[in-house]
Amino acid sequence: MLCRLCGSAATSPRSFGGTGYLWCGDCGYIALACRFFPSRESEESRYRLHRNDPAEPGYRAFLETFIERALEPFLERGASVLDFGSGPTAALAGLLAGRGWAAGFYDPYFAPGGAWRRRSWDGIVLHEVAEHLRQPARTFAALARRLEPGGVLAIRTRFAPDSREAFESWWYRRDSTHLGFYGPRSISGLADALGLGLALLESPDLAVLRKPARLSAARSGTR
Ligand SMILES: [Zn+2]
Repeated sequence: MLCRLCGSAATSPRSFGGTGYLWCGDCGYIALACRFFPSRESEESRYRLHRNDPAEPGYRAFLETFIERALEPFLERGASVLDFGSGPTAALAGLLAGRGWAAGFYDPYFAPGGAWRRRSWDGIVLHEVAEHLRQPARTFAALARRLEPGGVLAIRTRFAPDSREAFESWWYRRDSTHLGFYGPRSISGLADALGLGLALLESPDLAVLRKPARLSAARSGTR
């Protein structure tokens, strides 16, 4: 079986408490075996239960930390930002718009449609989304193609522990909709594969990948 993130064949099946995973020896991505994927129906109903109310102070602070750490240092206000996998309330897109970004959002269940693919974006955020992707390599490649030169892909996903023992007892893997887990090595390998630079890699859960700026535009200063 090939790694769903990097395509390597250097994977080994492992099982924890009856749940099967495919562990990539090259990039460290830990993929939930497909036979354990939830149905689309149970996936959607679980997403509806996700507590992501921006009026709730703890959750709002969690989102604001992400904006301040993973977006503000890399993207000017007014830039276009896509909240990919926005969930039922698009809370993050709302906060981004409130802070002066031109925010859009997409979600396969709650805000479907292909409009996001027909334009390019200065920033694309995957806030607690990367771990839900069924085909991460394909999705990330599609997203990278929609980035403007100099644009950023900002990701929040909890990085997986290194050891089998720590992974086995890790709370994050117990969410039935979490289909794959990344380590810092997975993220840097992903950046290389997409032709993006690594602008930020910060434990426990933040990464920012940046598309190279167009050389001619950089010289003339007109982006
Ligand atoms: Zn891999």
